[in-house]
Amino acid sequence: MPHDKHAPAPLDAALVWFRRDLRAYDHAALYHALRSARQVWCAFVFDRDILDALLARGLSADRRVEFIHDSLEQLDEALTALGRAHGHDGVRLLVRHGHAVPEIDRLARELHVQAVYANHDDEPAALERDARARGALAAHGIALHTSKDHVIFERSEVLTGAGAPYSVFTPYKNAWLRKLEPYYLKAYPVEKHAAALAPVPEGVATAMPTLEAMGFARTNLHTLKIPVGWRGAQSLLADFLPRIDDYQRTRDFPAVKGPSYLSVHLRFGTCSVRTLAREAWARSQAGSEGAQVWLSELVWRDFYHQILHHHPRVVGASFKPEFDAIRWEHGRHADELFLAWCQGRTGYPLVDAAMMQINQTGYMHNRLRMVVASFLTKDLGLDWRRGEQYFADHLNDFDLAANNGGWQWAASTGCDAQPWFRIFNPVAQSRKFDPQGRFIRRYLPQLAKLPDELIHAPWEARPVDLAAAGIELGHDYPAPLVRHDEARTRTLERFGVVKKS
Ligand code: FAD
Repeated sequence: MPHDKHAPAPLDAALVWFRRDLRAYDHAALYHALRSARQVWCAFVFDRDILDALLARGLSADRRVEFIHDSLEQLDEALTALGRAHGHDGVRLLVRHGHAVPEIDRLARELHVQAVYANHDDEPAALERDARARGALAAHGIALHTSKDHVIFERSEVLTGAGAPYSVFTPYKNAWLRKLEPYYLKAYPVEKHAAALAPVPEGVATAMPTLEAMGFARTNLHTLKIPVGWRGAQSLLADFLPRIDDYQRTRDFPAVKGPSYLSVHLRFGTCSVRTLAREAWARSQAGSEGAQVWLSELVWRDFYHQILHHHPRVVGASFKPEFDAIRWEHGRHADELFLAWCQGRTGYPLVDAAMMQINQTGYMHNRLRMVVASFLTKDLGLDWRRGEQYFADHLNDFDLAANNGGWQWAASTGCDAQPWFRIFNPVAQSRKFDPQGRFIRRYLPQLAKLPDELIHAPWEARPVDLAAAGIELGHDYPAPLVRHDEARTRTLERFGVVKKS
């Protein structure tokens, strides 16, 4: 097997610890456990270190927790079916609610396993958790084995000729593509070895904690028809592949069904990135420009993951340290501006519609993420970290590496970022990417009756046009918080400290 050149000596028993990899196919840790042990059990912990922090911030209706919960039900069913296909009834996913390290340690001892298998998670807090888990398990003679699963290339797999990590995307992408070969995209054939999946022993609890028992409420996830679990990921992929050839043409228009909407599934591993990259690579090799551009998006994902791995200081600090000298607006007025941005009350329709999208659905189109991030930092002069935290709290697909990378790109503080003197004009962006205002009308129905040419900047409309559309500015829809040309001048001055340094 190419993924496993040296088959290890068989163990009696092993535990697979699922985290951001909620599927039972093409799964590195599950595959390695099944190949290494005669009996394998599977577990997931709703980690109170994470959940309690959400509850403390008032996020008790969190679509992500519900997404995980409902995806685990599908994972449980898939594991049971895999076991049954090999003549084993009673294979289940063991789900616990508690602090991850002691829960895994307790379960590993209860099941008398010799090893725990998990997939890499390179976020700083996860690395610290895994170091603690490794120590706790080692104290009982239990090993923790971890593998790459979440990305195609991780950590130091793609380096410059001089052996340094890349900090510019295009040369990274070129090196990534040069390194790519079918070996890296091959699926782990979990099903071939699933005979080692073992029924849950008598006395080990199998009930899944309910959302309510963990302090969480149901959200509008299902009303929004956001597909969950590995089945949901498969249906989104089946929907996207016939559209992939058009991706480069459609992806920038938020009113159009252009992207894949797979990000939440990539985040929680309900799909395998290898499957997606394989599909895109094959089509790209066959000449599909759309597939080539889409594959590049998966490369961006790997790029930001390796940036976070090599430069964990980007959590909280600018990638380019000289940008930490920037004085962002602060104080009461800044707080009011921030609240207006969060609530979609800036007076710039495309920005406000985008904020309605994230608030109502937990998703925001990529073009709009760039627009609202630019608006926060360069029109309102607010610290990118405030926006980054808001996204972290509200995006279904929140991923530390991609979110931090996206925010630092927009704020010009990051690696390979938008140059600081290039400032998006929110009205020009609106005219270009939502020309008929279809997206704006969907999320700001109060502006629906404005003609296409006026919907991007209602304050420029004549009173008679506003009256005809039934809008009183300042009452039905806010007047703009700032003037873009003035804000632009202030931003150029603000970023001047960087030029001086
Ligand atoms: P598609 O266009 O179908 O792209 C396919 C996949 O490629 C995505 O699912 C995602 O995994 C990956 N991808 C696409 N663009 C990027 C990118 N620029 N960087 C890294 N990966 C990318 N993406 C997240 O997954 N989580 C985040 O928290 C996140 N925060 C962002 C914040 C800002 C300010 C910006 C500008 C971008 C952010 N992105 C983030 C990247 C991007 O906006 C989303 O991945 C994308 O909109 C998800 O929609 P999709 O699955 O339909 O994407």
